[in-house]
Amino acid sequence: MNAHSSRQRAGDPQFSSYDVVVIGAGLAGLTAANILGRAGHRVLLLEQHDKLGGLATWFKRKGHIFDVSLHGFPVGMIKSCRRYWSPEIADAIVQLKRIHFDNPMFSLETTFDRRDFTRLLVERFGVAPPAVDAFFDAARQMNFFDDQSVTTADLFERYFPGREDVVRLLMEPITYANGSTLEDPALTYGIVFSNFMSKGVYTFEGGTDRLIGMMADELRRNGVDVCLRCNVDQVLCEGGRVRGVLVHGRPIAARAVVSNANLLGTIFDLVDARHWPADFLEQARQVRLNNSSTQVYFGIRAGDTIDEEQCGDLLFTSTAPRFCAQSLLSRDVTSRTFSFYYPRTRPGHNRCTIVASMNSQFADWADLPPEEYRRAKQALIDDTLQCLEKYVPDVRQRIDWMECGTPRTFARYTKHWQGASFGTKFEGLAVSRAMPNVIGGLYHAGSVGIIMSGWLGAVNYGVIVANEVDAFLLNNSSQSSFSEETALP
Ligand SMILES: Cc1cc2nc3c(=O)[nH]c(=O)nc-3n(C[C@H](O)[C@H](O)[C@H](O)COP(=O)(O)OP(=O)(O)OC[C@H]3O[C@@H](n4cnc5c(N)ncnc54)[C@H](O)[C@@H]3O)c2cc1C
Repeated sequence: MNAHSSRQRAGDPQFSSYDVVVIGAGLAGLTAANILGRAGHRVLLLEQHDKLGGLATWFKRKGHIFDVSLHGFPVGMIKSCRRYWSPEIADAIVQLKRIHFDNPMFSLETTFDRRDFTRLLVERFGVAPPAVDAFFDAARQMNFFDDQSVTTADLFERYFPGREDVVRLLMEPITYANGSTLEDPALTYGIVFSNFMSKGVYTFEGGTDRLIGMMADELRRNGVDVCLRCNVDQVLCEGGRVRGVLVHGRPIAARAVVSNANLLGTIFDLVDARHWPADFLEQARQVRLNNSSTQVYFGIRAGDTIDEEQCGDLLFTSTAPRFCAQSLLSRDVTSRTFSFYYPRTRPGHNRCTIVASMNSQFADWADLPPEEYRRAKQALIDDTLQCLEKYVPDVRQRIDWMECGTPRTFARYTKHWQGASFGTKFEGLAVSRAMPNVIGGLYHAGSVGIIMSGWLGAVNYGVIVANEVDAFLLNNSSQSSFSEETALP
């Protein structure tokens, strides 16, 4: 255990030298910092925003607390939190039992697990049971080493040829969840879908603020130094190795650096280009960002309740006649996911809130002048409210707060290039993994590809990278320091 205590506050780091500096307090950065602190390394966690969590965040308005990205994650989060965080965190993870779909092809309720999907596919969609079983088995057996030329569209065509309705049921929630398309490698779909299908969709009781608060306590217990409002301007490298970071003009030496910032931001904004070999930079230039999101947040007056049976926990709604991943990105919104939060999901808080999430493109919002931006946001709120009225009677009179977030909001608070909600597409994973081979001691842990993003993916990626950093530190035990060669402005 470290001798110094953790401090969750803005301001200067306590020491000028650490074993590891973690840049960014998203779920991957937090988890990596916690594991490395627990292992006895001297860890500094630097976050540019004024709170921990990254995209796992919340905000308060007029007595309401709005969760931004707590819509659902797979059961695997319980095990990861128990092992790498604390039993108390793991014990607060509970299932969302009512998942609703409503679109021109079908309306149904499900617990979103293999057993219930099998029932629906057989009884409701009339698919032969052997085809359903074969599909689930194939999806579950997928792994990183599979042939990446097989697309998700190929997978569906193999098991459910010509069944657009079945594809919609199986694919639409995953597209909403992480922007993946039918053209992505089938393994990215198979792994994420199977994670959900194993036992359904889960949430954190008490909300994101409670989770992040408990994580902050755990970091403190494990001796991690935490500094908020500390933007890392540069990762300092020399002789093919990382040497530390530059924060507020001050160099901090480190034997290893883990960047939880956007992959492309890490490579092109934080590290001087001369430290990267040309072929690595070329590979990084080919990496595509994932899409961004828009959201509309509705607060229901204190004491008023929403009918849980009617609305469920999650509602995937669409007016599009057919499923099309591209149309889910359009500013002309036809498809939305509503998350309903009841007082029971936040015990002790007598409020219901509703969050509508839509996939969207940064380019559609980036350059709107102020008045047009304001009008576009209002139009999004109005359209979403109109859609919501179909499911919650008189909702207009029952709401006392409405607000919307756009790709610009996500870019502003997390510095993700183009406000990407899930980092990069799948090809980003190879670049992220290659980083320490190119600059010794420099690691990346954060949303890349579909598998390594989302709450569970980010936590698990933090674990993988923390283990690698731990091994690196044990094998490279010399103290960190700067030589005169290290470039400082
Ligand atoms: C609208 C929306 C809904 C979502 N819903 C779900 C959901 O229901 N379920 C689910 O599993 N996932 C969901 N996600 C995705 C999930 O929230 C993310 O994949 C995950 O939280 C990302 O974690 P991360 O570790 O990659 O880091 P991020 O959350 O991306 O955090 C990166 C951190 O690095 C910091 N940073 C960046 N640059 C610097 C710098 N130079 N110096 C210091 N700090 C820096 C940022 O401020 C940020 O705190 C959603 C995302 C969005 C946007």
